[in-house]
Amino acid sequence: MRVLVGLVFCIIGSAVAHAQKPIVFVSIPPQLWLTKQIAGDAVEIQTLLPAGANPHTFEPTAKQIKKLADASLALTLGLEFERPLVGRAQKLNAKLAVVPVDAGIEKRGAHEHHNHAPGEPCCGEGGDPHIWLSPRLYAAMASNTTTALTLLLPTGSQTFEARRDGIVREIQKVDAEIQGAVAHAPVKTFVAYHPSWAYFAEDYGFTLLTIEQDGKTPAAKHLVAVIANAKAENVKVVVTEPHYSKSPAQTVAKQIGARVETVNSLQEDWPALMRAIASLFR
Ligand SMILES: [Zn+2]
Repeated sequence: MRVLVGLVFCIIGSAVAHAQKPIVFVSIPPQLWLTKQIAGDAVEIQTLLPAGANPHTFEPTAKQIKKLADASLALTLGLEFERPLVGRAQKLNAKLAVVPVDAGIEKRGAHEHHNHAPGEPCCGEGGDPHIWLSPRLYAAMASNTTTALTLLLPTGSQTFEARRDGIVREIQKVDAEIQGAVAHAPVKTFVAYHPSWAYFAEDYGFTLLTIEQDGKTPAAKHLVAVIANAKAENVKVVVTEPHYSKSPAQTVAKQIGARVETVNSLQEDWPALMRAIASLFR
């Protein structure tokens, strides 16, 4: 009987503890990985973008908005879908704290830098949002995430900071590994379907040619230019992602004699994601 009573209390206790956990929203799975590492089980983390969805066309469900209205904290990244969503959630929940984890990060002004005509309008005022694909910027996101979690749960500050230090060391290790992997890359230009990899390219000395134009299907003229540039640079790799159609990448690859590789820039396991992109250039 005593055991049973103890068990019942245990179940009630954990249900209460669970119910009391603050809900923290993140936008994309790579942010989930980072926030989990720092917060541990102190919070319940929800990710807005479901696996396999395209972040540039994603529209949140009514259920997500309702859940967001129960949340304590939203960690935003500057993606298009966040603004209307967070605005609606804040109307329902005045206590929702919205903290940009891209704070202090200077974003690339152009979504697709290399193939822009001078003066052509670019990809929105927010700049290139793919900052998690640069280890140095991901480390900055770790710091901003830690600050936000500390504001939410001040008693956890020492734990969060210690975990942040650990995660920053892991990010630095991945960065060193990538540098080693790409140091002797025979070709320093690659083609990507979507312009996810501009920060990655910048950090590791690559030139990125992208098939998409401002997140849209490319004009024929643009494709011709990408193919010509890729041929001139002897490009061997065309990178696409599981949430985009494979055929534009295949068409370009065929024209230039390159191979198509699929890397998911939105996968949760950030070290695995970074190792996957780096391994294409060994
Ligand atoms: Zn994107």
